[in-house]
Amino acid sequence: MMFDAEIIHIDRPAKNIAVLTLRPLTGKQPVPFSYRAGQYTDVSFNTCPPRPYSIASAPQASGAFEIHVKDNERGGTGSYVVQQAQIGEKVRFGPARGTAVLAEPLAGSLPILFLARGMGIAPFKALTEAVLRENYSLPLHLYWGAASEEVLYLRSYFEQMEKEHPSFSFSPLVGGDVLDFAFANERDIDKKQIFISGAGSFIEQALPLLLAQGISPGNIKTDHTDIVDRYIFQNAIQKECKGA
Ligand SMILES: Cc1cc2nc3c(=O)[nH]c(=O)nc-3n(C[C@H](O)[C@H](O)[C@H](O)COP(=O)(O)OP(=O)(O)OC[C@H]3O[C@@H](n4cnc5c(N)ncnc54)[C@H](O)[C@@H]3O)c2cc1C
Repeated sequence: MMFDAEIIHIDRPAKNIAVLTLRPLTGKQPVPFSYRAGQYTDVSFNTCPPRPYSIASAPQASGAFEIHVKDNERGGTGSYVVQQAQIGEKVRFGPARGTAVLAEPLAGSLPILFLARGMGIAPFKALTEAVLRENYSLPLHLYWGAASEEVLYLRSYFEQMEKEHPSFSFSPLVGGDVLDFAFANERDIDKKQIFISGAGSFIEQALPLLLAQGISPGNIKTDHTDIVDRYIFQNAIQKECKGA
């Protein structure tokens, strides 16, 4: 099932990135959209094939929500959105999906570590806003690695949040390996909830390293549940074979 929405705002903070605000509509009437911070939705622009995009803002009373889209320069949906999409344009979107959401209740849960590479930052913006809006004193640390300074298009946004909220720390990294950077800085990483977000290759790289740090699979959250399931399944088979 797909719903209608209108693009009500577009920013293009970097050459290959567009930040869009979508307002769900029935006819011309704004309608609420039910989702939890950390989820994603399939969005269909113009005649392009629908693509999943993380929702980048915490739920708002108005129902409007943000998505951040990268142009991979291959002429796909991302290229269309970054190069051509306009305010007032109608789009279609699907129900919210994904399980990389906050524990309920949040009070008393483990400190949170967000590990993002590139556009993986989008759901962490929504999650950070959702936690800080509720004034939880739960420690949150966001690590964000990108290939160039231009890709860190939300650097000043998170730096401002860090100034305003003592429980929130932000560590951006240009070049280098964001996982090495986080592991070198973090203590008691096995006693935290870890959210990982980015391309599939990043999740593939991160998973064995996180498990090797003693983090239980139940404390690792990502949209790429297929990769986690496959990895854990393969490991279980390998253990059984070694034991045989
Ligand atoms: C859960 C989830 C959340 C996501 N969240 C975001 C987000 O917040 N922001 C974001 O930007 N993206 C996000 N993505 C990725 C996004 O959904 C798209 O898959 C991605 O942007 C690429 O789609 P595209 O149509 O732009 O380009 P492509 O899928 O790359 O397609 C472009 C064209 O290039 C062709 N093509 C594809 N690969 C190659 C290749 N190797 N060589 C030659 N031609 C090729 C295709 O057939 C197509 O014609 C997310 C993905 C998932 C699974």
